[in-house]
Amino acid sequence: MNPSLLQNRSVLQPVSRVCFRFSQTQTRQFSLTTGRGKERVVILGSGWGGYNVLRGIDKKRWDVTVVSPNNYFNFTPLLAGTAVGTLEFRCAIEPVRRYTPQVSYYQAWCDEIDFERKMLKCTPATRPFDAESTGNLDVLPSNPGPPFTLHYDKLIVAVGAYSQTFNVPGVKEHAHFLKDVKDARKIRGRILECFEQANQPFMSDIQRRNLLNFCIVGGGPTGIEFAAELHDLIHTDITKHYRSLARLSKITIYDVAPSILGSFDQSLRAYTEKTLSREGIRILTNHHVERIENGKMIVKEKGEVPFGLLVWSTGLAPNPLVNAVSVVKKDKRNTSLVTDENLNVIMEDGKPNPDIWAIGDAAQVDGARLPATAQVAAQKAKYIVKKMNKLAKGQEHNEKFEFHNQGSLAYIGNWKAIYDKPSENGSSDGFMQKETGRVAWLLWRSAYFTMTLSLRNKILVPTYWFVVFFLFKIAWAEHNLPTTHQVPELDIRS
Ligand SMILES: Cc1cc2nc3c(=O)[nH]c(=O)nc-3n(C[C@H](O)[C@H](O)[C@H](O)COP(=O)(O)OP(=O)(O)OC[C@H]3O[C@@H](n4cnc5c(N)ncnc54)[C@H](O)[C@@H]3O)c2cc1C
Repeated sequence: MNPSLLQNRSVLQPVSRVCFRFSQTQTRQFSLTTGRGKERVVILGSGWGGYNVLRGIDKKRWDVTVVSPNNYFNFTPLLAGTAVGTLEFRCAIEPVRRYTPQVSYYQAWCDEIDFERKMLKCTPATRPFDAESTGNLDVLPSNPGPPFTLHYDKLIVAVGAYSQTFNVPGVKEHAHFLKDVKDARKIRGRILECFEQANQPFMSDIQRRNLLNFCIVGGGPTGIEFAAELHDLIHTDITKHYRSLARLSKITIYDVAPSILGSFDQSLRAYTEKTLSREGIRILTNHHVERIENGKMIVKEKGEVPFGLLVWSTGLAPNPLVNAVSVVKKDKRNTSLVTDENLNVIMEDGKPNPDIWAIGDAAQVDGARLPATAQVAAQKAKYIVKKMNKLAKGQEHNEKFEFHNQGSLAYIGNWKAIYDKPSENGSSDGFMQKETGRVAWLLWRSAYFTMTLSLRNKILVPTYWFVVFFLFKIAWAEHNLPTTHQVPELDIRS
């Protein structure tokens, strides 16, 4: 396979190469029947949607296969914390292999869906078989192995979305994304590298300031939470160990919109802006990043801005697989798959496909736009589990999917958070509908503790929080350890 095609799998850019002719490349076909008299359900993706279906689906009655380039689930709300060492990387992941051999798993990308023949074309997401068995696990392989095909009886599409770049030149090459535990690991490494570089005796003050200029592009919840966690790190551990350098560091959030946290209530936005500004985090709204180069970005309103680390978090772009499918109905605004209220994918002719469901960031219910959140993906997954388990017993399941909004939370630093839960009629002035500060922070921590999936993480997450609260330097010591081994597997994205 041409390496440039693999490069296109980066989280940044949708690919246009994928087309729906299975004959185009030679593919290896996997067993078409299960041999166990069970129908085969293929789950595409191991994120909030896919992994939650995997957890709940009746594995005795369905022959379950998972296809995902990640052999683990990312607990995304905790990624910002892992990027600064509040939590260890293992707290934010769950392995898919926990469910094998009850289910089959292929570490691969699904590139094409043949709706008529019920076939999937997949490409391995492992390194080439002839690759060095040691060395940099992040090296992009040029030949991951031959594509293969898989048959499905029922298909659950939960491939999520990619990071949006708005085609700003240089983002892919010079910015960091925060979508995966591997991104968090790279960010953590870079923060420390910036401080160690700035600490070299020959550095000028200007060079130090440039290296310690941390920029975040995108004032949504992910950008704000990362800025807040970074601020906490600098004002606790880093201040202790690099006293004079911490004073030179600066955190700035850039956004094209007139305000940050657009999905939150106005009063909560104002509270956040005030709190962050008081902590010394600069918020530059109505600012347009035009280009990014090595170590600097060009902002229309400011000119050249040197930086040591730039984290890019400006929303979602469609997954290339979703982009490529052509015989289905797609949302006009974000090109996600459109489903009916039973979450069945609606085909071009307007009819729902009874054997295919789409959930999570890759899908929208027709006429009911829901936010692209873990909460929505997890609720849709729960609905699918109920449906599949009834179908397996030959029972009807005609209930429609209904979303129950449990509110939105964002950590804003220094043990403070915001919580917003508009009522069904849109008002947000009732009891416990809007919270700020320590109360919201407690809600934030308890919500994510409750949502952690395994017993292991139910123990690990609060333990790390406890340790960091009393002895931040324990987490600090771990910053300096090589971290590659802590991430379970690689994928082939650049
Ligand atoms: C840093 C961060 C913090 C967040 N915080 C919150 C929060 O606090 N609360 C909240 O509600 N939401 C939060 N979100 C949003 C939430 O994570 C997403 O809405 C959610 O992950 C969507 O779930 P999903 O299953 O659709 O996609 P994902 O969780 O992104 O999973 C997609 C899966 O599909 C796999 N995949 C991709 N392409 C293919 C392919 N071609 N073939 C097979 N598999 C494929 C991926 O490897 C992945 O396993 C956060 C997101 C981020 C990035």
